[in-house]
Amino acid sequence: MTQARPIGRFRFMDEQRVNLDGFAREDPQLGLVAFNSPSDPTPSLVIEGGVVIEMDSKPAADFDIVDAFIATHALDHAVAQEAMALDDLDYARMIVDPNVARAEVVRLAGGMTPAKLARALATLRPAELVIAMTKCRARRTPSNQAHVTNRSDDPLLLAADAATAAAFGFRELETTVPVLGDAPSNAIAVSIGAAVGSPGILIQCSVEEALELELGMRGLVSYAETVSLYGTEQIFIDGDDTPWSKAFLTSAYASRGIKMRVTSGGGSEALMGSAEGCSMFYLEARCVALARAIGSQGVQNGGIDSASVAGSVPGGVRSLMAENLMVMVRNLEACTGNDALMSESDVRRTSRTHPIFIGGSDFICSGFGSIQRYDNMFGPSQWNSEDIDDFLAMQRDWGVDAGLRTAAEPDVARLRRRAAEAVRDVYRVLGLADFTDEWLEQAVDAAGSKDVPDADLMTPLTASRLIRDTNVTMLDVIRALDDCGYDIEAQRLLEMLHARVEGHYLQTAAIFTEGMQVLSLVTDPNDYTGPGTGYTPTAARQLEIDSIRQQKSVDDLRGSQQAAASARLSATGFASPGTDPRDVVIGVSPATARAIWRTLCGLTVDEALDELLAGLEEEGCTGRIVRFNDTIDLGLIGLKAARLAGSGIGIGLQAKGTALIHRRDLTPLANLELYSVAPSLTRGAYRQMGINAGRHAKGSTPEPGRNPYSDEAIEARYHTTVVALVAIERECCDPAGFPESLTLAEER
Ligand code: CA
Repeated sequence: MTQARPIGRFRFMDEQRVNLDGFAREDPQLGLVAFNSPSDPTPSLVIEGGVVIEMDSKPAADFDIVDAFIATHALDHAVAQEAMALDDLDYARMIVDPNVARAEVVRLAGGMTPAKLARALATLRPAELVIAMTKCRARRTPSNQAHVTNRSDDPLLLAADAATAAAFGFRELETTVPVLGDAPSNAIAVSIGAAVGSPGILIQCSVEEALELELGMRGLVSYAETVSLYGTEQIFIDGDDTPWSKAFLTSAYASRGIKMRVTSGGGSEALMGSAEGCSMFYLEARCVALARAIGSQGVQNGGIDSASVAGSVPGGVRSLMAENLMVMVRNLEACTGNDALMSESDVRRTSRTHPIFIGGSDFICSGFGSIQRYDNMFGPSQWNSEDIDDFLAMQRDWGVDAGLRTAAEPDVARLRRRAAEAVRDVYRVLGLADFTDEWLEQAVDAAGSKDVPDADLMTPLTASRLIRDTNVTMLDVIRALDDCGYDIEAQRLLEMLHARVEGHYLQTAAIFTEGMQVLSLVTDPNDYTGPGTGYTPTAARQLEIDSIRQQKSVDDLRGSQQAAASARLSATGFASPGTDPRDVVIGVSPATARAIWRTLCGLTVDEALDELLAGLEEEGCTGRIVRFNDTIDLGLIGLKAARLAGSGIGIGLQAKGTALIHRRDLTPLANLELYSVAPSLTRGAYRQMGINAGRHAKGSTPEPGRNPYSDEAIEARYHTTVVALVAIERECCDPAGFPESLTLAEER
């Protein structure tokens, strides 16, 4: 028997985007298991004479380099005995119990081995993770981080996009390069653009470690976060690294006043074929313990590049969030993933981010792709420029602060121009490059690098070589900005250098406000202890969250209706009953030609009436337009029209476009035909309704008209408008009003 093709329902399901994702059968041997692999060690800790002699069921003699570093540097011996003796569930309950302070949760975690903390956090259910994150993140005020990159490393576009990201509220901007040699130029362009957009934005240029450190030492970047940690020894060895070398690098950044956190994430060990049969969550617990031990300010985790690996196994998405929580209870800054695109499905990627979005984190995304997907040189993000409005709407829906704000188009246009011009001027003064006017104009207007065909791809490389050869530092950039009249931007960048000397932003979870105030674990500690406590947006911030650019009021709608006003319909007095058996009355609603002139489908009321009248005429009937001023109910309008009509057939038409056919002997709700989906109606549909009304008038039974096919969110799109239109109809309605004849003048 040949293989039968699946039935239509399954062919249809197979076509959906979620089926582009990979889903793995759980396989602990390959590390394809989220929590609790059979090979995960049983938690244990034996300390003798201040030395760890056994950790997680392994004697010290068998420690690998990861164990050895954790055993020596990650455990708080003062609380270890107490912490390790705690029941897993008892500790998990303390995490979500509002009566237990965050500090106590953190204190106990300090004495827990990776296996212990992993086993305890694995017991938390999704809703508990949300509460835990609300309580346990270090900083009270949530924030967000953006990627600002492009395929051409175009300095003008980078600057314009950095200013744009700043305008939308991101407080950390991370760039990287498709061409390593372009890095210094990218760092400068993004720094300038960010300074145009806002004071106090932290900048990273993620490249090979030595170059990244060099950029930091030149003052061209202010944070680093791509020092990677892994949960098994083999991967360190493969990368020619050790926890000690990572610790050294961490100290090198800190010593130059550069904020620094590490990167890890569940699934990376499985992806590199070296999971040692352990669960993703246990291996990540080792990474987070390492991060604490090497003195990092925080961790960017939650899968990161391997998020889709974690997402492919049962419970994997929950483990990604639990990883983030683990960072928080270890008292580190949490940059909570949601960067690399985990799924092709909008539903799955939203589902993955959403609990973190409502719980709040130090950085909701450790890389929101603020630019086009094709320009994201880290690869497409979980959230990208096309999602900014969605993200803002979601903030508004839930009333939460996920770090973004609405930016008005004229403001962004102005900032983009200033950013691109500042970079052009600085590059000219420093002798790095010249840019044409066409290039600049394209970069200002561009939605992405495809819109900048005039970009010269050699420019960033040449500029970068000059930056390194002539030893350009951020002070040179600042001087050039000042020379060219960008004194505000020069001052902002100077303040960032000053901040590095002060070092307050080397505290855990530090960001700057636009007033250059440091918000961190020290200055803005999370004080959530249940309902009514913890972070609440200020009234001003709440207004910012609520006031998305798409919101409209009844007055806005009234104005747009006035703009469509026409004089073709005019009232000619009291409408009397007709006697002609071919007389059909088209009843219209009170606001028609008074306050509403355009229907929801875009046709004017006049145009809809033209079609209805023409349809009636085709059937040899005469249409009469009558405005019923005493009701806004369409069924009643149609019925009253039918009772006035000589034929006994009436059409009811609301000004918003909804229409029906009625007959004088029926009850108000029992009409003959109804076009209920006004937004999807067309001229043809109104013509057909006119024809059918004519046929009813002649006593025949036409095939009823039907709403057209639609799979759009018609209601979501139009309901707010409908509410406003109904309010306007009600204002025009007069219970004592009489039916008025209207005449429709010929179109001129
Ligand atoms: Ca990042």
